[in-house]
Amino acid sequence: MQNFLKQLYWIFVIATLIALGISIFSINSLPLLITQGVLLFAIFIYLIASKAIPENKASPDMEERYRLETVVESLRDGIIMYDKDFTILVFNKTAENILGVSAKEVLGISFTKKLRSGVTEKFQPLLTLLFPALAPSIIRRSELGAYPQIVDISLITPPLELRVFTDRILNRENEVVGFIKIVHDRTREILLLREKSQFIAVASHQLRTPLTALKWTLENLEKEPLSEDQQEMVAHATGSVNRMMKVANDLLDVARIEEGRFGYQFQTVDILPFLEDALVQAQEIAKQYGVKLYFEKPDTPTVEVTADLQKLGMVIGNLLDNAIKYNIKNGQITLRVKRLPNESFIQIDIEDTGIGIPPDSVSRIFTKFFRAENAGKISVEGTGLGLFIAQNIIRQHGGKMWVKSQLNRGSTFSFTLPTNPALLPPKEVIFEE
Ligand code: ADP
Repeated sequence: MQNFLKQLYWIFVIATLIALGISIFSINSLPLLITQGVLLFAIFIYLIASKAIPENKASPDMEERYRLETVVESLRDGIIMYDKDFTILVFNKTAENILGVSAKEVLGISFTKKLRSGVTEKFQPLLTLLFPALAPSIIRRSELGAYPQIVDISLITPPLELRVFTDRILNRENEVVGFIKIVHDRTREILLLREKSQFIAVASHQLRTPLTALKWTLENLEKEPLSEDQQEMVAHATGSVNRMMKVANDLLDVARIEEGRFGYQFQTVDILPFLEDALVQAQEIAKQYGVKLYFEKPDTPTVEVTADLQKLGMVIGNLLDNAIKYNIKNGQITLRVKRLPNESFIQIDIEDTGIGIPPDSVSRIFTKFFRAENAGKISVEGTGLGLFIAQNIIRQHGGKMWVKSQLNRGSTFSFTLPTNPALLPPKEVIFEE
């Protein structure tokens, strides 16, 4: 249609020119002028019409679809879309690369039927993704039943570490008509993390051996008859060695946590005597800082939880240590235990009257090596690793940890622990910040 109109336009133009030429030489030009008028009018109409018709343009729907396909194809994450029968509808280039099957081989194929009739090895990674229960290792990163669902899947052959986001596709009536999966390949990321953790683990091990020897030498030296100056020097050196030992130990713990091999030994215990004991241990250092310790217990005589007491000791020890270290002279610390009504959890708060945390630092307080500016001013010591380790330990117990703080007024660090052993995570997982 467009081409035809164009041709017609040129015929009109030529015809008009001829008509004009004739009219110049003609004596009786009235009929010719009328003809020209008609022709010019026709051209005018054509021009308006041709403006209304878009030139060589696809429909907006097609254009939109083309743009979407290009975006999906060029994404660095795999995209898989399938309907309720597990018939694959979209399978982009990255999905092909990650899962080792081409779009041609899977598009339009129902994998529930395929599953029943048995599939070849080649399709196994895709099947594991569609049915994560088949995976040798799966870690849930989102609440059960909540969308998008996020899971980390580890495959053995081929060795793949994938983070998979699954969401529902709903129609206008809000009915589920299919699913979309976004597949993020973390294989290289995890490999690098493991290599880094192994390096840190070896380095801190190597550091600990000479430090232990130094500590032992200093302890022996302390027993010798020394002058006052010499005693002071030995005490100073012992303090430094202890601090270095703490850094090496913290680094080793972080490396083990990141590799998912911190090693937990759970047992069901009454937590009250354990907390009392932790307070007694903290008493000496609290006295040095002029800080008072209080214990608020629940009404019940015992509070049973399933926990690894050695690891939980690290958490309580770190929180009490911080509450003392970042407190003010004659400050207070309250350790509070309460049962959460209608929940299978207890909550433990450690409330202090200390320097508090600047509001812009609160969100980073549990990240590795982070120290708030005000803390650095009053205590030069500190690795910024204690809270990262503590939060990971609590998560591994199936609980949560958080902080509420007011600058120059104090902080309350809180965490929960389940009272039902069924709420413990099934296996040790690599938690990230
Ligand atoms: P460290 O105490 O060795 O620096 P942590 O991981 O235990 O490492 O703490 C990280 C940072 O969190 C501290 O440097 C400090 O800025 C802040 N912090 C922790 N506990 C408290 C507290 N009770 N009051 C104020 N700030 C705190």
